[in-house]
Amino acid sequence: MRIDIITIFPGLFGPYINESIIKRAQQKKKVVIKVHDLRDFTEDKHKKVDDRPFGGGPGMVMSAQPIFDAVKKIKGKRAVRVIVTCPSGNVLNQKIAKNLAKCKNIIIICGHYEGIDERVRDKVAQEAISIGDYVLTGGELAALVLVDSVTRLLPGVLGKAESLKDESFEQNLLEYPQYTRPANFRGIKVPNVLLSGNHSLIEKWRKEQAVIRTKKYRPDLLLKKTNQCC
Ligand code: SAM
Repeated sequence: MRIDIITIFPGLFGPYINESIIKRAQQKKKVVIKVHDLRDFTEDKHKKVDDRPFGGGPGMVMSAQPIFDAVKKIKGKRAVRVIVTCPSGNVLNQKIAKNLAKCKNIIIICGHYEGIDERVRDKVAQEAISIGDYVLTGGELAALVLVDSVTRLLPGVLGKAESLKDESFEQNLLEYPQYTRPANFRGIKVPNVLLSGNHSLIEKWRKEQAVIRTKKYRPDLLLKKTNQCC
């Protein structure tokens, strides 16, 4: 997969994408991530990429021209899924991440200020994605969340130790609780079954716990699960 990110703050990405699993995914050539400075595409001689909103109001709006031209140039002749980050987009979840993980090429556009000229969403992007019902200063964090959630789903990115099989949101359940040594930490003991060495009992316990935790913390997911079965 190739992911291109268009931003006015390219320096925000390196520290995250050059560590941990995303770094390994790039080294293993499972993903290529390119970060582009939007200012390189503006026709404005002062490198401006924003302007005042039509109709008045506070703040500035990111102009259509640099984004249209950046996407055209970066895309070339490739088939690319263009995503604009926006609080009014579809709220990201594991299903959306899984669908995006099937794409070969993605471009993510990061907004700033009061947002992006709507013509970008209408004419350039296939999709708008929000990472939750709150307002961020810019789309960079949203882009990183997208890159992370999608990259870890690419075949061969996660090792056995980080397997996806029982992760939260697989089958609309949260993952079972996890414990590590010591078995008795200041009088707080881990459940006996985990020390039993009986793998089928452990698996049964984990399945039950996944349902119990989901009921307790995210009952809405169980509702989805029931609806899916019907
Ligand atoms: N005025 C806009 C509104 O009320 O909807 C908010 C603009 S926000 C300050 C600037 C940029 O941050 C947005 O264009 C978008 O790219 C990004 N952004 C903010 N919140 C986001 C969210 N929840 N999910 C994804 N991107 C977000």
